[in-house]
Amino acid sequence: MELWFTENHTDSVRFSIKIKRHLFSEQSEFQKIDVLESEEFGRMLVLDGYLMLTEKDEYIYHEMITHVPLSVNPDIKRVLVIGGGDGGAVRELCRFRNVEHIDMVEIDKRVVEVCREYLQKTACSLDDPRVHLYYEDGLKFVRRAENEYDLIIVDSTDPFGPGEGLFTKEFYGNCYKALNENGILVNQHESTFYNEYAKAMKRAHSRIKSFFPIALVYQAHIPTYPSGHWLFGFASKKFHPVNDQNAEWWVEQGLKTGYYNRFIHSGSFALAQNVRDVLRETKEEGAK
Ligand code: SAM
Repeated sequence: MELWFTENHTDSVRFSIKIKRHLFSEQSEFQKIDVLESEEFGRMLVLDGYLMLTEKDEYIYHEMITHVPLSVNPDIKRVLVIGGGDGGAVRELCRFRNVEHIDMVEIDKRVVEVCREYLQKTACSLDDPRVHLYYEDGLKFVRRAENEYDLIIVDSTDPFGPGEGLFTKEFYGNCYKALNENGILVNQHESTFYNEYAKAMKRAHSRIKSFFPIALVYQAHIPTYPSGHWLFGFASKKFHPVNDQNAEWWVEQGLKTGYYNRFIHSGSFALAQNVRDVLRETKEEGAK
């Protein structure tokens, strides 16, 4: 008997991966957590039926959500990661010696526990002494922070279920307040190819733009995400992601990567015309 994992990318588009074993399944307080093993993509984390990561292509997402901001401001010391319970973003951050302190706020402790057990390739740095784990809603956590962080990474689920609050105006306004004057906010920004994702992306982009003087979007090719084309938001109080790229510094760090490099850094901000058109359609929502 064949076992397949299928995710509906739209009501009329499905994406399927052949499964070798269903390793884990549990309904936590917040979401259904599954870990599957596949021939092609290795182990995979699925939350509420949506594919979060696979061992084969997770490095693309996690390198792009971390190395881009780190290469723009090599002086980043204090980082807040919101979501990211699989530990992939933290793993990449821990490779940088300049990063001194990482707060990770994950709403669902079970995601972290399950990833520690089944996805050790991503969860491997969660015990680094620089990492401080908080199990609570990121929306509430940022309300209390002021002028504290050089970088905030929003590594969330999509804008429904527990992740919904992480796409609101209130949340982005509080991120602005939680960042210092050099602050950078990077978030997973959905994609433009399918309408539902494009709507979510436009909403998020216009909200971020209403707080930050610099708000741009960059892209990566992620084979297992809907349409294979995924976007990240780069918002900042001061640094421009391309003009302020410090390529030499990044090369000096000697980090081996699979996707990010100093050329793809600026290349990832060169968006296709249809993505630029969608971005141009986003309205300013009115500021603060
Ligand atoms: N890379 C993934 C993607 O875009 O598909 C995201 C992976 S990561 C596992 C997303 C995490 O965000 C989940 O573990 C989820 O529990 C967490 N999360 C969702 N809403 C949250 C919230 N309000 N506060 C903190 N963490 C949240």
